[in-house]
Amino acid sequence: MAERQAMPLQNPEERTQNFNEVALGYTEEQARAEASRCIECKVPGCVEGCPVNIDIPGFIAQIKEGDFDKAIDTIKLTNSLPAICGRVCPQEVQCEQYCVLAKKKQPIAIGRLERYCADYEMGKGVNAPVKPDSTGRTVAVIGAGPAGLTAAADLAKAGHSVTIFESLHDTGGVLTYGIPEFRLPKAIVRAEVDYIKQLGVDVKVDYVIGKIKTLDELREEFDAVFLGTGAGLPKFMGIEGENLNGVYSANEFLTRVNLMKAYQFPDYDTPVKRGRKVIVVGGGNVAMDAARSALRLGADEVSIVYRRGEEELPARKEEVGNAKEEGIVFSLLANPVRILEGENMTVNGVECIKMELGEPDGSGRRSPIPVEGSEHVLDADVVIIAIGTSPNPMIFSGSSGLETNSRGTIIVDENGKTSLDNVYAGGDAVTGAATVISAMGAAKIAAKAIDEYLKA
Ligand SMILES: Cc1cc2nc3c(=O)[nH]c(=O)nc-3n(C[C@H](O)[C@H](O)[C@H](O)COP(=O)(O)OP(=O)(O)OC[C@H]3O[C@@H](n4cnc5c(N)ncnc54)[C@H](O)[C@@H]3O)c2cc1C
Repeated sequence: MAERQAMPLQNPEERTQNFNEVALGYTEEQARAEASRCIECKVPGCVEGCPVNIDIPGFIAQIKEGDFDKAIDTIKLTNSLPAICGRVCPQEVQCEQYCVLAKKKQPIAIGRLERYCADYEMGKGVNAPVKPDSTGRTVAVIGAGPAGLTAAADLAKAGHSVTIFESLHDTGGVLTYGIPEFRLPKAIVRAEVDYIKQLGVDVKVDYVIGKIKTLDELREEFDAVFLGTGAGLPKFMGIEGENLNGVYSANEFLTRVNLMKAYQFPDYDTPVKRGRKVIVVGGGNVAMDAARSALRLGADEVSIVYRRGEEELPARKEEVGNAKEEGIVFSLLANPVRILEGENMTVNGVECIKMELGEPDGSGRRSPIPVEGSEHVLDADVVIIAIGTSPNPMIFSGSSGLETNSRGTIIVDENGKTSLDNVYAGGDAVTGAATVISAMGAAKIAAKAIDEYLKA
């Protein structure tokens, strides 16, 4: 059996000096060679592992034949954001995990092939989608992240008239303001959003629901509402020094880098502190993105401080590997207890304590326990906190009876229906911070239920 095709990457020394995409994508030869490794299982597990059920064996067979037009059509039957998913989905714990070749640690590179097809189509110009006949029914979608965009696309394809309301000045949600250019170029997100607009979806930006209009008002105005408002409210540790200048939530830091274009310095003079020694607290994708962005902004040293060990790091393995190659330092089994104050209320280091792992907690992971007397100080002038987020409660002001649980996430049934009659929800607003594809999967389920409700 041939080896899995490696993804060509920008070399580490060069890429830390720019914000260009790190993964360069397969060539046609590589894509066909990788597709040829597929052994065409009679009962393919990969499709089950995909939350949006792409016909994976189908599109891989079409790549083998060199019919990339058909391959992208096959993908787009169930996924309107393939160039995005091909880049950021954690395939290793989804479709690729179910590939029989995963047993030998060499699953088919499904995500990279999906990306190849999507990029191929963008390279030659995306065909405008065919607009269906109108049903005359209307749907408001709140939030233009992957959940909102997917629900909007599926409902527009079903013939409903869809309007998206987005609070920021740009679409994409986390895809635009969170995930950096070097992992997901803004032009790719824009192109896939444009495709959805071509389906006839109307997008209103700078439109905060809960301020400009309430959910109750939208329920009157539209036949149904989908909430895809995400989980954009950052959590903090509640330790001394978190209000010092130079302490950021990862959301704020990445928004300044991405949406406020600090990544295009010196063309944009975005107010963001470019630290010399940066500490990022957390071990997920968000922490990796913040650390690698800080490095590209010119930091001398960037460290990840994470309270568990290497095996427990929740970030994608590929991204941990990329971060290490770029020189990010990993201070594992350590937890901040205090941020130290320098002159004029600035950051002057972080006092941490060593941790050891005890018994598994509710999440199934071994819980970190502080080691008494192991306090030590790490040098820092910028601290970025990436320990999680929860849903922003703005949407609830002026909405009567939308039920949530103790974590502030919206309660839905198995079809994505909320406690309100014509209101559905999906994505991070329901699950808490999760993944792009899980948000899309939930949105598809809700869109199907909305379609049935509207046609009943
Ligand atoms: C830095 C970072 C890196 C990540 N990396 C990955 C990765 O590599 N792979 C992966 O699968 N997942 C990753 N994730 C997680 C993934 O991006 C999210 O799970 C996904 O974006 C959730 O989609 P969503 O549509 O539910 O919410 P969001 O993407 O958060 O979109 C919600 C949208 O709703 C808007 N909104 C909120 N409230 C209102 C309101 N009241 N009125 C109008 N609009 C409103 C917001 O402005 C936002 O645009 C990452 C997350 C972050 C922050």
